[in-house]
Amino acid sequence: MQGLVTTPGRPHTTAVAELREPRAGASEVLLRTLEVGVCGTDREISEGVFGVAPDERDRLVLGHEFLGIVERDGHGFARGDLVAATVRRACGHCAACSDGSPDACHTGDYAERGITRLDGFASDLATERPEHLVRVPTSLGWLGVLAEPASVCARAIRHACAVAGRQPWRTERAQVMIDTLGLLRRNGVACLLGVDGRIRQVSVDAPVLGVDMVLQNRALLGSVNAHMRDWEAAVSGLDRARRRWGDAVAEFVGLRVSVDRFAEAFAFKGVKATLQFAER
Ligand code: BGC
Repeated sequence: MQGLVTTPGRPHTTAVAELREPRAGASEVLLRTLEVGVCGTDREISEGVFGVAPDERDRLVLGHEFLGIVERDGHGFARGDLVAATVRRACGHCAACSDGSPDACHTGDYAERGITRLDGFASDLATERPEHLVRVPTSLGWLGVLAEPASVCARAIRHACAVAGRQPWRTERAQVMIDTLGLLRRNGVACLLGVDGRIRQVSVDAPVLGVDMVLQNRALLGSVNAHMRDWEAAVSGLDRARRRWGDAVAEFVGLRVSVDRFAEAFAFKGVKATLQFAER
């Protein structure tokens, strides 16, 4: 089978390679990959600045924004079911991970599919344990490839609402710009989601930090990854969005190409590019 691999730490090593087909263990589900989204993290891994290969291997199979189809009945799934899969796997020795919240792992020793120490889903076939699979309604179809980024947003919104909910609050739409802190309204909460690891100084007007943040109860937080409840919220939210706005949701994905054209997807500057593996 074909897969998109890279050697973490070595830029420009991303390539389509011939890989051995995986065998599903007794506790795993065999999946056929339909489509995989490409994000900033994939680009960083491909540029050699992020990512870790599985133990005793040089290469990592990319792909953590996964939409696939179940190949065989079993573990509560039927052949043909559409599924996405969560990304992060528990570190095995912290309270958050034992509580089913690897998204809030205390140690940082977690593994992530297609990112850190675990192969991803950018290959014709993949396997996963059923508890990490998220059902995608047939009505959502290929838009299920947006489940992972939507789950990250769902978590961020849940956390921002929890912070904001510490005091009486109501949501209001606001302009979102780079100087978020200075733009927040009274009681506003800003959540940083995109990673920007460039070494540089950023400046903020001192009274924004020393006065407004305090006197106006403003908050700034970061958020990464997603809990299973965020995945469920994401999938049903996407399906509601599809019913409400129809084709407009599909416009998030500006480029859909087969995996051999991965370079175009990685160079794409629009909101989202995806790699197609198989048709349903
Ligand atoms: C993924 C997250 C992941 C993070 C850090 C992001 O691209 O969407 O699920 O936790 O990268 O590795």
